[in-house]
Amino acid sequence: HTPIHVIGGGLAGSEAAWQIAERGIPVILHEMRGVRGTDAHKTDGLAELVCSNSFRSDDATSNAVGVLHAEMRLAGSLIMRSADANQVPAGGALAVDRDGFSDAVTAAIEGHPLITVTREEVTGLPPEDWDQAIIATGPLTAPSLAEAIQARTGADSLAFFDAIAPIVHTASIDMDICWYQSRYDKVGPGGTGKDYINCPMDEAQYNAFIDALIAGDTTGFKEWEGTPYFDGCLPIEVMAERGRETLRHGPMKPMGLTNAHNPTVKPYAVVQLRQDNALGTLYNMVGFQTKLKYGAQAEIFRLIPGLENAEFARLGGLHRNTYISSPTLLDRSLTLKGRPGLRFAGQITGCEGYVESASIGLLAGRFAAAERQGATPSLPPETTAFGALLNHITGGHIVSDDEPGKRSFQPMNINFGLFPPLEPGTVTKPDGVKRFRGKDKALAKKHATAARALEDCARWLKG
Ligand code: FAD
Repeated sequence: HTPIHVIGGGLAGSEAAWQIAERGIPVILHEMRGVRGTDAHKTDGLAELVCSNSFRSDDATSNAVGVLHAEMRLAGSLIMRSADANQVPAGGALAVDRDGFSDAVTAAIEGHPLITVTREEVTGLPPEDWDQAIIATGPLTAPSLAEAIQARTGADSLAFFDAIAPIVHTASIDMDICWYQSRYDKVGPGGTGKDYINCPMDEAQYNAFIDALIAGDTTGFKEWEGTPYFDGCLPIEVMAERGRETLRHGPMKPMGLTNAHNPTVKPYAVVQLRQDNALGTLYNMVGFQTKLKYGAQAEIFRLIPGLENAEFARLGGLHRNTYISSPTLLDRSLTLKGRPGLRFAGQITGCEGYVESASIGLLAGRFAAAERQGATPSLPPETTAFGALLNHITGGHIVSDDEPGKRSFQPMNINFGLFPPLEPGTVTKPDGVKRFRGKDKALAKKHATAARALEDCARWLKG
């Protein structure tokens, strides 16, 4: 009857506690609000939504987050049950009455006979005599715990900000304009000398791009006003403002690169994209962290030759966000390597969003409960939304070899780019359809990926 300790009663911690208790194991849930607040939360309720009241698309046939909703419902999620019960009209999206939602989660958790909620700040790593614990303290983890995590895992392993460069779906990059090459054809460990996708610019294109960056609409940094920019994370539009040539001598330098489509003409500047996931379906724009508004980003980055039709898996940003370098620190079942029994869950693991955080809480809860019952945690197949997200966090990620110290692991929402490609022949041209290309084909692929996910998830949960 030894309890499992869950630290943090947000989206992830509440779901983890519920999953554990539903398996007959007692839980102590430690939540500091009530004793100490955060910069974003306004109430003491569990699972408070700090900003928007939307869980995004509820379409489980062609939207990745909709698929995640469906999988969570199949897995008996408290967060989804409470969201469904407190829905407000929002078209195809699942939006909730935020107070009703938080009240429902709080009542279910506080009313569960196996869950004890204690209102206290946990100021260090869980003591060794808590043989199983889950840290789910979120993007605004209290400083003393964040420092303890950093002391245990190393200075480079904990980020306090997201300096996010946009991430592009590889299939949307025009390879008739771009080419694969590493700078100076350098072959890093495991590399080929062709590890980057390069987009060339001539002088006129570069100047037009700089003008667009400087004129672009930026978001304020209001929550964290006064926070200084730090080395290596300067937004590109700030670099552009510092001087017309700054980017051409920084992330956009053309040195060591030869345009494979036009070898005799030296590019004036080059935008590089680096492989972002092991599948190679996503590439991130190297050094392109930005505070430009989303709309402005899509417009300005499509000025880059080869990215005219780019589809973005995520746009750039710069926000306060505490998260660990999960691909190096955690094993596949979210346990801190070298500290059996200690798991992480939620946004602190490097996922992004309410639903994603809750889903990682759900998995951490199931894994911890299985371990307590003497079983090996059963991992979701990578073809499911659960598995795709878990794979992004714990393993599917490329850690940059040629720029040591550069964090290439960035928090991400669930998206179809994280799923393994479909088996050849899965998506076939429907009878009577003449042209099966572009949007129709992309939609058919989403349908097939979603259907495969739900089928595999149901099988996994049964097993
Ligand atoms: P949280 O929900 O933040 O839960 C963590 C809990 O741990 C909190 O209750 C906190 O009080 C507690 N805690 C922290 N430290 C300690 C400690 N030492 N001891 C005990 N308890 C502790 N996502 C979206 O999908 N849509 C949005 O609109 C959105 N807006 C956001 C706005 C802001 C300002 C931020 C910071 C994030 C936003 N996110 C949004 C991202 C993310 O989805 C949410 O932060 C989400 O709540 C993360 O879930 P979580 O369970 O990991 O963390």
